[in-house]
Amino acid sequence: MKKTPRKTSAKKAPRKTSAETAGENVAGNYPGHADIPGEFPWTRDAWTRATADPNSLHHGLLITGAPGAAKREFAFSLCQLLLCENPGEKTAAKIPCNQCRNCKLFRAGTHPDFHMLTTELEAREGRIALAAQYCERYQDAAARERRAKPGKVIAVDQVRLLIERFSMHAHTSARKVALLMPADRLNINAANALLKLLEEPPANSFLILLSALPGKLPATVRSRCMHIPAAAPQPAAAAEWLRARLPKNDAELAPMLLEAAGGGPLDALKLHAGGFLELQAQFLRDISAMMRGAASALDVAAKFAKHDFPHFVDWLQRVCCGVIRCNAGAGETGGPAAQLGVRRGQFAPEALFNLYDRIGYYRGIAREPLNEQLAVEELTLALRRALRS
Ligand SMILES: [Zn+2]
Repeated sequence: MKKTPRKTSAKKAPRKTSAETAGENVAGNYPGHADIPGEFPWTRDAWTRATADPNSLHHGLLITGAPGAAKREFAFSLCQLLLCENPGEKTAAKIPCNQCRNCKLFRAGTHPDFHMLTTELEAREGRIALAAQYCERYQDAAARERRAKPGKVIAVDQVRLLIERFSMHAHTSARKVALLMPADRLNINAANALLKLLEEPPANSFLILLSALPGKLPATVRSRCMHIPAAAPQPAAAAEWLRARLPKNDAELAPMLLEAAGGGPLDALKLHAGGFLELQAQFLRDISAMMRGAASALDVAAKFAKHDFPHFVDWLQRVCCGVIRCNAGAGETGGPAAQLGVRRGQFAPEALFNLYDRIGYYRGIAREPLNEQLAVEELTLALRRALRS
């Protein structure tokens, strides 16, 4: 699972100001660190390749890689580097100087030649506080306030506005830079409109697309970009990085948090900061009560439904995998299935695999528009059937 179901539901959380989100930007090391290869050592090779000669860089870049491995920080720093007046002058590595007018404007969230297209959900919950500031130029605040839930797509109107603004001269930098993240959230019309910019880019402009799921982008978009794979850290390196950032008392939880986060150290740090351990314990108590018949599936589903659906369904898949492993006798140390006390041969394998199939189905469409309440209820009923089989 990438991230924890949040403690507070999206519906109830008031939209935070950028100053508030910056204050709790615990895992997002931007704008704290423009020195991305220094802060995230596993990105060094990709960084060196991407920044070797900014003047010969392709105008369309697609940064890909596993979730939670600092792709966003990488992309923001690369954008800053492209706008910076003195890249790499003070250090051996090519990194933004943080001193010039362009760097200062960029980090203040006010650079006029930086354009950011993202979803309302990403702006609200993503790691990078600056994203919430920059995306305001491309989002309709009034429409956003009217919606019950933040939008999950990058719409064609945003891309059209970018095309219009990209056709003008740069204001203060030698270049214009646009970042689209997550690029796999471009809807089909937006992706088609983007092709125009990729095929006929204005002079001195860069389009940087970022995605953990590049297979969801149309092939026509992918094929017009230079691909920058940002490697994920090795497990030992990820654990070392994470241990150094966790409170001393929780340092030994690093491997468990990494496993829960799908290996991404930044996501693991965010899970810890978001109270993941307490929330998981509560979820497992609810499941346990349902297994004993002490709680109804619909009551438990009502609790699950308060949390972010994609994160919940990722988490449920991890639980289901652990249960299947324990049920088959493979064992699990300290994971959720072990906490549920699953024993070898306790459940009917067929029911467990039916549950796994349903989770897989909903994971595939978790970020599409769907009735999440019904989906959570169906999954919780399937979970009860499997755990009482
Ligand atoms: Zn600079």
